[in-house]
Amino acid sequence: MTERRVEFFRHNLTEEDIALATDVMRSVFLTTGPKVAEFERKLSNYLSNGHVVGLTSCTAALHLALLRHGIGPGDEVITTPMTFCATATAILQAGATPIFVDVCPHSALIKPEDAEKAITAKTKAIIPVHLYGRMADMRGFAELAKPYNLVVIEDAAHCLEGQRDGVRPGQLGHAACFSFYATKNITCGEGGALVCKTDGDAAWYRSARHHGISKNAASRYTGSYQHWDMDMMGWKYNMDDIQAALLIHQIDQIYGYRRRRQHLEQLYREMLADIKGLEFIEPPAEGEESGHHLFTVLLPRECSRDAVLNSLQERGIGCAVNYRAVHTLTYFRESYGYRPEDFPIAYDIGCRTVTLPLYPKLGEDEVRRVCAALRAVV
Ligand SMILES: *Cc1c(COP(=O)(O)O)cnc(C)c1O
Repeated sequence: MTERRVEFFRHNLTEEDIALATDVMRSVFLTTGPKVAEFERKLSNYLSNGHVVGLTSCTAALHLALLRHGIGPGDEVITTPMTFCATATAILQAGATPIFVDVCPHSALIKPEDAEKAITAKTKAIIPVHLYGRMADMRGFAELAKPYNLVVIEDAAHCLEGQRDGVRPGQLGHAACFSFYATKNITCGEGGALVCKTDGDAAWYRSARHHGISKNAASRYTGSYQHWDMDMMGWKYNMDDIQAALLIHQIDQIYGYRRRRQHLEQLYREMLADIKGLEFIEPPAEGEESGHHLFTVLLPRECSRDAVLNSLQERGIGCAVNYRAVHTLTYFRESYGYRPEDFPIAYDIGCRTVTLPLYPKLGEDEVRRVCAALRAVV
């Protein structure tokens, strides 16, 4: 008997989402318009915070947030090497220099006290990453930022849902950046957003996401003809109404989806607890809420991670690596001369980590199969 493959990820798009996107396609107007505005209102309600600006990606959000706060050539931005490369490339896109700080071995997050040691006269910003769904210590980072007058931008691609020490993503940072990429907790294939505090910030981001043009297509479309003008440098980062339509109903499901992933992660932790040498990233603390975006295990050091990945794939289990440490990627090694041991904890995690399937549609029987397969191959 051949069992069905356990996919690494399956999205949650429903007929309702598809119908809403289809309505947009049957209308005259496809790009940034009323659906994006509705998505932005709904997401800012969900986040209990400020202004949401819909963008094409989280990378775009990180890039614009750095520019909004005047970060550019000659500036240093502190971040973690245990993240997707986009956190660091957004810093490079802004013209600034990423400065990595090694992570805590238990949480895989960077800590404010370690970030402080990397502050120099050139440091302008910190980008903590809420990795795997767990928030970084935002109270600590906000405290640290004050005396040094640093900007704090949250990479919340894994964490729409988090809550730690009474704060949520975007509530303490100058901006928080979200991703709706194909495998994220809510998705429209490709998409992103940023949440910011002030009307001034929001207006700047709305202009910057659309060439720096003063009127967007929707406002030019109605009423009498008005010339548009370009009054600042801008980019092409605007979310469109088709993407927004796919996301609008998913926002209502965020809470339930999070609960389901939390349950499945708990199941994994129980079922894998007795495998010798297998380690886990620590679970969220009491009272803290994680987005439970990814569940990753750290293989015993004597295991070949790549052999385990291949064996799991052969057994029909989708898996991934989140992440090989950014400083070990060829571009960063060659451009900056990093050696793996420069950030030994991130390097160690990056060599041993395997991410297992975790999404609301994953069945408990599938979790059992993943665990049995992992037990057999480790
Ligand atoms: C997915 C991801 C990004 C980039 O998101 P895009 O929307 O694909 O640009 C950035 N940071 C982290 C931690 C991510 O997982």
